[in-house]
Amino acid sequence: MPELPEVETVVRRLQEVLPGKQLANLIVHKEKSFEGTVKDCLGGTITDISRKAKLIRIHLNNEMSFLVHLKMTGQLIYVDGETRFGGGHPTADWVESLPSGHTRITFDFGDGSFLFFNDQRIFGWVRLLTATEVQHEFSKYAPDVIDEVISTHYLWQHVLKTNRVIKSVLLDSKIMSGLGNIYVCDALNLAQISPYRRATTLSYSETERLLDASKAVLEKGITLGGATIEHFRHVDGFSGDYQKEVLVYGREGEACFNCGAKIIKEKIAGRGTYFCPACQI
Ligand SMILES: [Zn+2]
Repeated sequence: MPELPEVETVVRRLQEVLPGKQLANLIVHKEKSFEGTVKDCLGGTITDISRKAKLIRIHLNNEMSFLVHLKMTGQLIYVDGETRFGGGHPTADWVESLPSGHTRITFDFGDGSFLFFNDQRIFGWVRLLTATEVQHEFSKYAPDVIDEVISTHYLWQHVLKTNRVIKSVLLDSKIMSGLGNIYVCDALNLAQISPYRRATTLSYSETERLLDASKAVLEKGITLGGATIEHFRHVDGFSGDYQKEVLVYGREGEACFNCGAKIIKEKIAGRGTYFCPACQI
């Protein structure tokens, strides 16, 4: 599943090519992937691309917006002749001819350029919504970890209230958005806090250290264009590089960068969790 840095990277790439494009046609290949009335977007011009949590918003000049959620296997790929931009789940569709058997929606700009929404498993979606409907959808998601409104005091208030393990608090998108499994593992290692710790046992200064580490790994992920964990033929402008700089994720049996002890993998909060049993206490 793409994590927040990958989604942010898709947004930044699409910002370079989509504003100013006018929608000549919208082809819905799979009804389940789309919600809305197609004619409400036809003739509309794209003015901006933005994001809340992992929701991608494509703004039109007619008060409507597309919201896109990539979920597990979604991709957005812009194609204009030889030019390709986009990202999401890494598959052969990154390089092969489009539309493919996984294309669910085609945005046709009438000038030979297209945006393809592909999704192998059909959990992702595209919705055409009014501004009010967008705000309603956005209200379901907490601010990003890297948003300045997420302070130590904010996280501390949540930490005090729950006896869950700290790992599941960090993954809770009702508290903060943006930290998926890769970045949670790395943030806990950077802060030298065990993923097994009960949230209520964290001190204020440990909470501060953990939040600083969380913001740091996520910002690094965004700078590096996210992580492309699954092996796939490299395409310029598609895959991120965070996987080359991970602290613990996927490094079972290798040396911890903090202390040199061997990293182990155990299932915590339902997910494979990599951590150092020596320095993460
Ligand atoms: Zn260590």
